[in-house]
Amino acid sequence: MDWQLMESDPPKVLELFAPAKINLFLRVLGRRADGYHQLETWMQKLDFGDTVSLQPTLDGVIRLSCSDSSLPQDSSNLASRAAALFFALSSRGKGYGADIRIEKRIPVAAGLGGGSSDAGVVLRGLNRLFGGEFSEEQLASMGLQLGADVPFFATGHDAVIAGGVGEEMYPLPGLQGYGIVLVNPGFSVSTRWVFENLGLTTELKESKLASFRKDAFALLTRGELVNDLESVTLASYPELMKIKSDLVDAGAEISLMSGSGPTVFGLFPDASKSAVALQAVADEMRRKFGERVFVARAKVGASPSG
Ligand code: ATP
Repeated sequence: MDWQLMESDPPKVLELFAPAKINLFLRVLGRRADGYHQLETWMQKLDFGDTVSLQPTLDGVIRLSCSDSSLPQDSSNLASRAAALFFALSSRGKGYGADIRIEKRIPVAAGLGGGSSDAGVVLRGLNRLFGGEFSEEQLASMGLQLGADVPFFATGHDAVIAGGVGEEMYPLPGLQGYGIVLVNPGFSVSTRWVFENLGLTTELKESKLASFRKDAFALLTRGELVNDLESVTLASYPELMKIKSDLVDAGAEISLMSGSGPTVFGLFPDASKSAVALQAVADEMRRKFGERVFVARAKVGASPSG
């Protein structure tokens, strides 16, 4: 459909779900000569996330408001930057602007990809509002200009193995059969600080991407999932070790830090825990580590973000 926004049209508002993600494994191969870190990671979207509302405007201005007043409410917000990039590249959107409203639920700088998700769904949403000018691949490469995790959120894939500096993505089936408890200890961790403290040489470790792609779920069932960034974040925040071990004591098959942290998640097999029992685990975690504890599942299939 060659849809064009007309002055006579009622303004369309699109409400989008911007999911959080967890990294089921994350391996750092090293740092390239240009300074970029080369990663291999299995990312899974969750049914827990932000809500992003988009309304195109005729005045060419991008405005943003966010329920979390500590986040930038101007053109520096990653979601505004995504909209600016879209309008700069789109011929159908030329001259238009957008009002963006973010209801923030994903803790910030938490390893859950909140900013990247808001930005990715803005790209997807604007593309939908302006007639689907760009393919998913084009949206993903636009996303890469904004951050390594944005391409994943600019596509409809629920789970991917990603490699390189974010530009390689291979879809995987979503994780089924597990309840997920996320424990965020209430402080934020800068992704940049974590990478700066990794102390890598420029020599790259061997890629295992081919076997990960074939066998990711086998690694999960064998309990061999790792996150190389734990070495930095856990060493500085021993409380995270305690969260990890408490989740395992409560019945998690695996507990791991997500991304650069500090959020830690536990995977609880459905066969071992009812939804009620999982809520009890979450209540216990809240008592020990504070309010930011969430029960989630892997996102499977369509959502308003497409
Ligand atoms: P990742 O896992 O992708 O590294 P993260 O979950 O650790 O991300 P974010 O929540 O995306 O971190 O926030 C990182 C920084 O981005 C914050 O310091 C924040 O000020 C900035 N930021 C800009 N826009 C947003 C947004 N819409 N939501 C969250 N953070 C944003």
